[in-house]
Amino acid sequence: MKIVLFGAPSSGKGSQAKLISNEFGLPQISTGDILRDNIQRQTEIGKFVESIINRGELVPDNIMIEIIKERINEEDCKNGYILDGFPRTLEQAKMLLKITNIDVVIYIDVSIIEVERRALSRRICPACGKIYNISNKFIENCDDCGAKLIQRDDDKIDVIRHRIEKYLSQSEPLIEFFRKKKLLKTVFSAESPEETYKSVRKILLKI
Ligand code: ATP
Ligand code: MG
Repeated sequence: MKIVLFGAPSSGKGSQAKLISNEFGLPQISTGDILRDNIQRQTEIGKFVESIINRGELVPDNIMIEIIKERINEEDCKNGYILDGFPRTLEQAKMLLKITNIDVVIYIDVSIIEVERRALSRRICPACGKIYNISNKFIENCDDCGAKLIQRDDDKIDVIRHRIEKYLSQSEPLIEFFRKKKLLKTVFSAESPEETYKSVRKILLKI
């Protein structure tokens, strides 16, 4: 099964991808994680995209397309995958449908006010990647591995606002694009990832 998770920045694509991956045994391909890993290792791509991401801009399509082409050809993707964060532009979406078929695009619908609130209260574990929302429960250290949680640079207020603007102008048109292709399924983002996952799961079990 080939799944695309679509939604605004910090709509919870990453959390849903992890839940799907655990239950359905599909690899999660998070373009954000791939780019951040490249930045951490200071690869050529990493050095190039670092300032783009930290300003809340989108990475150029040609780079993203190369990354995806390479990744979906890997051995673990032969039975399908979950795309988390790709495509984000019409160009990326058209290219994706040229090189592969997609079974479903799950659009996580959440208000822009909520998106901003979530991004600001998001913390991540730099060691294991676990994602936390500190608005309900304030914690400083990862409860899985104990590392001190950090805020992503691109989750700071000015950057998140810019990311939301980019989303509205560049990415939101994809909703209509996928709807016309009859691939779009919408889920409303609930209070917790587990609650949202119930709707996601129902869709996937019918595919
Ligand atoms: P979510 O919380 O819903 O998982 P997110 O806020 O974690 O979403 P990421 O997917 O991690 O967002 O993306 C972080 C940044 O990486 C983007 O703002 C953008 O600069 C870059 N990026 C990731 N995927 C793409 C893409 N497909 N095209 C262009 N830039 C991308
Ligand atoms: Mg993410």
